[in-house]
Amino acid sequence: MLHDKDRIFTDIYGEKGPGLEQAKARGDYDGLKDLILLGRAEIVDRVKKSGLRGRGGAGFPTGLKWSFMPKETDGGPVYLVVNADESEPGTCKDREIMRHEPHKLVEGCILAAVGMGCTAGYIYIRGEYVREAEALERALAEAYDAGLLGRDILGTGLDFELYLHRGAGAYICGEETGLIESLEGKKGQPRLKPPFPAMVGLYGRPTTVNNVETIAVVPTILRRGAEWFAGLGRENNTGTKLFCISGHVNHPCTVEEEMSIPLRELIDKHCGGVRGGWDNLKAVIPGGSSVPLLPKDICDTIRMDFDDLRNVQSGLGTAAVIVMDQSTDVIKAIARLSKFYMHESCGQCTPCREGTGWLWRVMTRLVEGRARVEEIDMLYDVTKEIEGHTICALGDAAAWPVQGLIRHFRPEIEARIRAAAGKTDQMAAS
Ligand code: SF4
Repeated sequence: MLHDKDRIFTDIYGEKGPGLEQAKARGDYDGLKDLILLGRAEIVDRVKKSGLRGRGGAGFPTGLKWSFMPKETDGGPVYLVVNADESEPGTCKDREIMRHEPHKLVEGCILAAVGMGCTAGYIYIRGEYVREAEALERALAEAYDAGLLGRDILGTGLDFELYLHRGAGAYICGEETGLIESLEGKKGQPRLKPPFPAMVGLYGRPTTVNNVETIAVVPTILRRGAEWFAGLGRENNTGTKLFCISGHVNHPCTVEEEMSIPLRELIDKHCGGVRGGWDNLKAVIPGGSSVPLLPKDICDTIRMDFDDLRNVQSGLGTAAVIVMDQSTDVIKAIARLSKFYMHESCGQCTPCREGTGWLWRVMTRLVEGRARVEEIDMLYDVTKEIEGHTICALGDAAAWPVQGLIRHFRPEIEARIRAAAGKTDQMAAS
């Protein structure tokens, strides 16, 4: 359980205000000059020691990612890009940071710039986040006025420009190379990797793309110490985490908690429990719509972290917890996600372009039971043909929810097929 003294986001519900003065009163920018003067190597070292892993879905170690940026450059621009294109269904955590604590993100960008030698940064925010973009614009203007951005920041000799860029609402622009393409003014179609953005990124320059929450927690880590952050959660799954819980709970919310908190404790403590009680739980999608769902018996004991969830063939993803009680038509729920991924496929790769439509069409028939039992295996095989065979992870994201459904709810799918077949037989006989 997270104690208040260990909370990073102390105004995540916007009770005190997002302005610079309020942010400073909360401790933001405290000792920033000294942190900047730590220098590149020390900042990366501390972030590595903290064990921070990316909060956008993949969970890649942040310090290690930063260390991939070239130490020597030709003097041209080097970019930090913040992925604020929060579009994964169920996910609404970065939104709260940008609305209520935008200066945590601005300060994090400054320190990330030192850690990677960046000369400029872009925050790419999804177009639908209008109020959040306005809050960030105000925060940027305040930071420039206060000499926290621009040339010779706080007299340290650091030059760093930070811009806000608004997207146009395509999910695929949340994929880091799709985002870079979009920033360059092109269609948001992901690039083949390698080369990785650290070598060839925005405008062909070295670039690192990080999630909003990842960047926003860095100042507190550097201020309070890597050991403090590493002491929260458990090994390889350290720190605090913003969880956004929606669906069939009594009080949906976004809350900061300690990594590795048991799922049941998270729901009972912060959401007033599952609607109708814990025994009324049917399934949970633990990390945003792209990770496989988990049935109740696994939810009883699972911990919310990267490793525990991976061990049960799911994932922490964006830590967007979607709760489904017994009233849920779980086949229909997953079919709806299939439709989403079909709609959002950028169409470059055949397995994704054709496969997502194929999944959705079969899922639509399964909802009504209009299928043969053998088609369940065929559907699973198709997900395996998509998974790992595409340019970006959208193919996996489309495949995994269907795989999770078949893994855990196959009897329900078969029962529906048999029930539909029974009805057809009755009609034929009458
Ligand atoms: Fe586009 Fe899908 Fe290929 Fe990603 S996997 S690049 S979304 S077609």
